[in-house]
Amino acid sequence: MNIVIATRNRKKAEEIRRIVKDMAVSVHTLDDFPECPEIKEDGNTFEENAIKKAVSVSRHTGMAALADDSGLEVYALNGAPGVLSARYSGEDADDRKNVKKLLDEMRLVADEQRGARFVCCIALAFPDSKIKTFFGYVEGRIGKEPRGKGGFGYDPLFYPAGHNRTFAEISDEEKDSISHRGEALKKLYEYLKSYIYKKN
Ligand code: IMP
Repeated sequence: MNIVIATRNRKKAEEIRRIVKDMAVSVHTLDDFPECPEIKEDGNTFEENAIKKAVSVSRHTGMAALADDSGLEVYALNGAPGVLSARYSGEDADDRKNVKKLLDEMRLVADEQRGARFVCCIALAFPDSKIKTFFGYVEGRIGKEPRGKGGFGYDPLFYPAGHNRTFAEISDEEKDSISHRGEALKKLYEYLKSYIYKKN
């Protein structure tokens, strides 16, 4: 089976390669299809964006395609930044500016109302138009100042439930084992395992 990973993000592509390494799957990336058009992430939900990307790449390549979309939902902000997580602080957004904007927005939010969750949706689109989606979530709370040097995005502000260290203070392995992306990838793995015979 051929699968194209619909991302130009090498870290994400490697993560998915690791997941399917013991399966009879040939993994391609968008680097193999440089002519694939960029897809605008303008959906209202993570699911819409992930499906849009996977379907577009599957149509273009004639292969099964995998895409993901993820972000942070803060309950006190009615789910913001949500699908706008990457661009929260504007056109020239970066992780540092996004973290600063979130802290500013939450300046007056009390400790017990700082709940949030990360969400990840992975979509797998097949050439015959079939689509499967896999979701992952991790609940936690938003701190009052950035802590830790690991991870990316909002990690320095996010304390997963039951932990007193942020996502930026724990190891990659520990994060993978509890993260939204880790959970969605586990579901994808189980699906692919039942769909494709194993190499060994
Ligand atoms: P995308 O899935 O690459 O579109 O990511 C959207 C944005 O959500 C990222 O740019 C980050 O700001 C945020 N985000 C998604 N997953 C994580 C995570 O695991 N840690 C921190 N921020 C994340």
